[in-house]
Amino acid sequence: MKPLFLIVAYLVAVTLPLILSALVGGPPREFHQELASGLGILAFSMILVEFILSGRFKAISNDVGMDVTMRFHQIMARTLLVFAVLHPLLYQGTPTAGERPWDPTRQLTLTTDFSDLSTGIAAWLLLTGLVVMAIGRTQLGYRYEIWRLLHGVGALLIALLLLHHTVYAGRYGSQPVMTWVWLAMTGVAVGSLLMVYLVVPWLQKARPWRVSSVVRLTPKQWEVTVTPDGHHGLDYKAGQFAWLNVGHSTFSMKENPFSISSAPAAGPEVSFMIKELGDFTRTIGEIEPETVAYLDGPYGNLTVDGRDEPGVALIAGGVGLAPLLGILRQMRLTGDSRKVKVIYGNRIVEQIAYREELGEEDVVYVLSEPPEGWQGETGFINAALMDRVFSEEEFSEWAFVMCGPAIMMDIVEDHLIKRGTPSHRILAERFSYD
Ligand SMILES: Cc1cc2nc3c(=O)[nH]c(=O)nc-3n(C[C@H](O)[C@H](O)[C@H](O)COP(=O)(O)OP(=O)(O)OC[C@H]3O[C@@H](n4cnc5c(N)ncnc54)[C@H](O)[C@@H]3O)c2cc1C
Repeated sequence: MKPLFLIVAYLVAVTLPLILSALVGGPPREFHQELASGLGILAFSMILVEFILSGRFKAISNDVGMDVTMRFHQIMARTLLVFAVLHPLLYQGTPTAGERPWDPTRQLTLTTDFSDLSTGIAAWLLLTGLVVMAIGRTQLGYRYEIWRLLHGVGALLIALLLLHHTVYAGRYGSQPVMTWVWLAMTGVAVGSLLMVYLVVPWLQKARPWRVSSVVRLTPKQWEVTVTPDGHHGLDYKAGQFAWLNVGHSTFSMKENPFSISSAPAAGPEVSFMIKELGDFTRTIGEIEPETVAYLDGPYGNLTVDGRDEPGVALIAGGVGLAPLLGILRQMRLTGDSRKVKVIYGNRIVEQIAYREELGEEDVVYVLSEPPEGWQGETGFINAALMDRVFSEEEFSEWAFVMCGPAIMMDIVEDHLIKRGTPSHRILAERFSYD
């Protein structure tokens, strides 16, 4: 599926209930009342599509990239919240009594039936809470797994409450054809949640992996390698990532996304380069060999497979080396004829991983706090450094693949665009979506 198709599919999905409601029609009302209904309808359909944009559907995220998918999910959540907040406010002035003699179908008044309104009010409050909690996730400081669980359960509740509210209190939703449309759309959204949290974990049970080695690479970085246990392994492209679950049930929330640092050409073992950060990553050193593990993947579109540029530039900051190492290994193993240059930045020399394997040829090491006598580049990966490493021709013809801290990615991307690198030749993976 191509991005343009996805955009069209998104627009069709979110506007379909609105268009059908307009076709179904009803007695004429004032503009602000129609606007109120329209925003409510749009907000509900956008909420339902948010389930599909949760990142776990390869047909979507593997085409446009996981970071783009998540960013879109976040922006749409903020947009639909504005629509949802305005929805009840715009009904100001609409009569709220029950049946009027001139309105036997009660289509010109607002319902005062508490059970119909209460689900809408509850969803309205929950939605505001859910979006605010997501925006302030890092500041609020609760554990990622807890947040994920609350986010999923909250979204499910909102969808069910809104289905009730739309069908029982909605002027359009109560019409039979619209009731079926909303039922079908809510069914797909809830089904997608069940797929991610029940069906996929159930299928994963038949495809266990075993931890074959855990190696300390640098004081705070590890290499974890897993081997398929009784199956052929993962069908992935170099540079992609997977959710890794070590030692927990497949239904557990304890799984984390990591880029695959091994190359598919090297065999069925899959390796990850992991930096200590929080609850799970700080305990990597305690993982026993043979521990059972599960992988959900592959995800992501950070890959140079099938591309026809004459060269590939790999620009990594810290543990951002992981996916680029997978790409480099694959290119070396398959005798890829494309030229390759690597820029690998770290703070101190002790943080450089895989130095022996990377070698010195075509690899530019950059340290922001170099030791005395350091021969490589110093400072940060910035415009001046890139101009020293890449020629005019390389800027315009090569593919640039990068992964690292957000600030590094922004600087590199801005400079590439300034130097005329077309955006389709700039590939990036972000490890954080905040
Ligand atoms: C696509 C992608 C690829 C990544 N590749 C690598 C890699 O190759 N090597 C590496 O060291 N790190 C990688 N990361 C980052 C890695 O996922 C987090 O550092 C790790 O999950 C932290 O887990 P924790 O329990 O130790 O820390 P926590 O304290 O639980 O989490 C710290 C932060 O990590 C993120 N995080 C935690 N769990 C999840 C989850 N299940 N899903 C999404 N984000 C989560 C959240 O932003 C959270 O705030 C990648 C992240 C993404 C999104």
